[in-house]
Amino acid sequence: MPEQALLEQVVDKVRPLLGQGKVADYIPALANVNPKKLGIAVTTIDGTTIGAGDYLEPFSIQSISKVFSLTLALTLYEEHEIWSRVGKEPSGQSFNSLVQVELERGVPRNPFINAGALIIADLIQSRLGAPKHRMLEIVRELSGNPSILYDKVVAASEYEHSARNAAIAYLMKSFGNFNNDVDTVLHSYFHYCAMRMNCADLSKAMLYLANRGKSLSGRQLISPVQTRQMNALLATSGLYDGAGEFAYRVGMPGKSGVGGGIIAVIPGDMSVCVWSPELDLNGNSLAGTAALEEFCQRLGRSIF
Ligand code: GLN
Repeated sequence: MPEQALLEQVVDKVRPLLGQGKVADYIPALANVNPKKLGIAVTTIDGTTIGAGDYLEPFSIQSISKVFSLTLALTLYEEHEIWSRVGKEPSGQSFNSLVQVELERGVPRNPFINAGALIIADLIQSRLGAPKHRMLEIVRELSGNPSILYDKVVAASEYEHSARNAAIAYLMKSFGNFNNDVDTVLHSYFHYCAMRMNCADLSKAMLYLANRGKSLSGRQLISPVQTRQMNALLATSGLYDGAGEFAYRVGMPGKSGVGGGIIAVIPGDMSVCVWSPELDLNGNSLAGTAALEEFCQRLGRSIF
């Protein structure tokens, strides 16, 4: 099991990489973040959380929310109702690509690219009267932190610059694979992305992925089989076009967001969250990936 000193060593080792990536700048609210931040937190299945660096500072979780949305959808639907609308394959395109959606007639490759997450948000919208409220309730319960909030400035900024996600949603609608009003679903999707959490919150919230579907609060959120399936999808698609490189270097199922966060799990053992805002060319945290690589190597662990 990792110890505090190991996390400090990881942060020290990786810190020189700060300055080599580029903070997401597609919305002003994200471009303003301090690029030099770096944090790591680990929660083990005995319920202990430790952290180092800026692990208590909240950031915009962005696409890490796609894990929570898929989990929520799995609790609302039969599996065939989900997998008839979105695939399980790596996309081979950037996370906000329209190309694959057009080529494959409105069915996104997986639930972790924007197109797939918009389908999941559409599914959730069809079943819940107040999806934003429910999402916040779940995430607060999973992390044990009742003060988690949506960042209204980030959500509004996403909405103002929503042309690309709107285009993806309308393209899927043109193929008959989108049921609700596009604007309504975009509104929910941007809020999910705009949740503010810190590394400790996220490592706690994701513990169910390491613990056969059982949350830190003791709730069986999804079944052990569904958890294994989720981890398989995260390992193949969680890091977009960088999933192969991430598997090679880190060797854990994981999910990144353009806010610079990455969550990763070692099934049966622990969940980890790293945060550093500067991104590599695939939109994944540059120093965050290096921190996870260092962490796994020092621990001598990999799922492979
Ligand atoms: N809100 C971002 C978007 O929809 C999320 C993308 C990401 O984190 N990769 O473009």
